[in-house]
Amino acid sequence: MIIAANWKMFKTVSETAEFVESLQNQQEKIKGARVIVCPPFTSLAAARERQQEKVVALGAQNVHWESEGAFTGEISPVMLKDLGVSYVVVGHSERRHVMGETDEFINLKLKALFEHGLSPIFCVGETEQQREDGRTAEVLKDQVRLGLREISPSHLASMILAYEPVWAIGSGKAATAEDAGEASRLIRETVDELRPGAGEKLKILYGGSVKPHNIGQFVSLAGIQGALVGGASLKVDTFVELIKEAQEAS
Ligand code: PEP
Repeated sequence: MIIAANWKMFKTVSETAEFVESLQNQQEKIKGARVIVCPPFTSLAAARERQQEKVVALGAQNVHWESEGAFTGEISPVMLKDLGVSYVVVGHSERRHVMGETDEFINLKLKALFEHGLSPIFCVGETEQQREDGRTAEVLKDQVRLGLREISPSHLASMILAYEPVWAIGSGKAATAEDAGEASRLIRETVDELRPGAGEKLKILYGGSVKPHNIGQFVSLAGIQGALVGGASLKVDTFVELIKEAQEAS
């Protein structure tokens, strides 16, 4: 069971330190889950200083694919690794749709992360319009195929993917368990085309308006191994409650 907190552009250094300490003080309640906290870049060092690795893992929200160079404003996999980061969110819908990130960029990032021994959390998901047009399956398959182009087969089976329908993110309107289960099936089928047998080994998270009251319906599905959580990860007590609910339901 993996529960990852995507804080987006929230929390200062002191707020991060306070959250991580408080979360770890409640470790008895969350110890059955792999908990990953993804603060903004500016707070990674503060989280790292307080982090007890057995309780909380550290994730970043983005990465550049080159190790170093003239890329103003970017952060490399080498820099993240040096800071003690283990996971990196790639292809989040806010980066795809607000920052204009392409499947090609996402593919380069995924390759770079594997090369440097970092674990991606690779996000895919359809927009509301694409769903209404009946294109969900096509969009998910394309994102998976293009994102994972030329990724070594040995890496495919150990991947974490997050199914995050764009219309569900931050909207308060989560997908149904049925939608999430069907997306998980499609993603596994598509990865199987790239490496037969890898699909069933993937860890697939659901993300999009996950709250303590609805997490159970997702993690009780055989095809879903956890959640990527935005809004409900910002308050430590809500986040702990969500993790508890997830553990009870799985
Ligand atoms: C996210 O940012 O990945 C996310 C799922 O956000 P929220 O939980 O707020 O919908």
